[in-house]
Amino acid sequence: MATAIARQRKTPSGKAYKWSLGLLMVTVLGLGWKYPYLGFMVPLVMVAGLIGSLVKGRVVCGNFCPRGSFFDTWFKPLGGSRTVPRLLTTPLFRWSLLAVLFSFMTFQLAMDISSAAHWGTVFWRVCLVTTIIALTVGVLYRPRAWCSFCPMGTIQGAIGGAKHALTISSACTGCGICQKACPMGHDIAHYRESGKVNNSDCMHCGACIAACPRNALKE
Ligand code: SF4
Ligand code: SF4
Repeated sequence: MATAIARQRKTPSGKAYKWSLGLLMVTVLGLGWKYPYLGFMVPLVMVAGLIGSLVKGRVVCGNFCPRGSFFDTWFKPLGGSRTVPRLLTTPLFRWSLLAVLFSFMTFQLAMDISSAAHWGTVFWRVCLVTTIIALTVGVLYRPRAWCSFCPMGTIQGAIGGAKHALTISSACTGCGICQKACPMGHDIAHYRESGKVNNSDCMHCGACIAACPRNALKE
């Protein structure tokens, strides 16, 4: 019983602070049009993600990103349960999306380069547009579908995705429970042979570790 409770607490939606981060996300999106400085949450999270990636890949995505936290908590009941189309996860699509979004953002920022309020509004606008896309694919596929091709996730995975990969022991039976629990739907048992979950999009959220009935996964 105690073990079961401990496991429940380790799942992403079981972490109380993630509900607060999700609320922060809603607040910024809801009030950013009126208070543009709220938009600076976006570059703050981007910088945090980049620093985190130097240490442990996409750890910020899985644990501290306000939007990711929103997907894991408030939005989760509305999310679908389908596989994200392969096309959306290819490197070509991901890096192209990154180039388009960052070019758009840079162009917008340059339109009034000396105004902090303008920059805040641009960040807020980018956040709004990408969140609308994220909610759409979240309903169509899975709550964290956006995270499969989020430009910041792409950069973080490229920088440090291979760092501190989870280990998977021979106790694994290939039951697939971890894959169902994984917000990204990673085929974790596929890594049994190598003993390391070498997936650069692992967000170190711990959902698979909490779900595995064989205790085969470790950070
Ligand atoms: S839940 Fe555990 S035993 Fe089942 S496939 Fe995943 S790692 Fe292997
Ligand atoms: S593999 Fe495990 S730790 Fe990585 S994203 Fe999936 S559930 Fe989270």
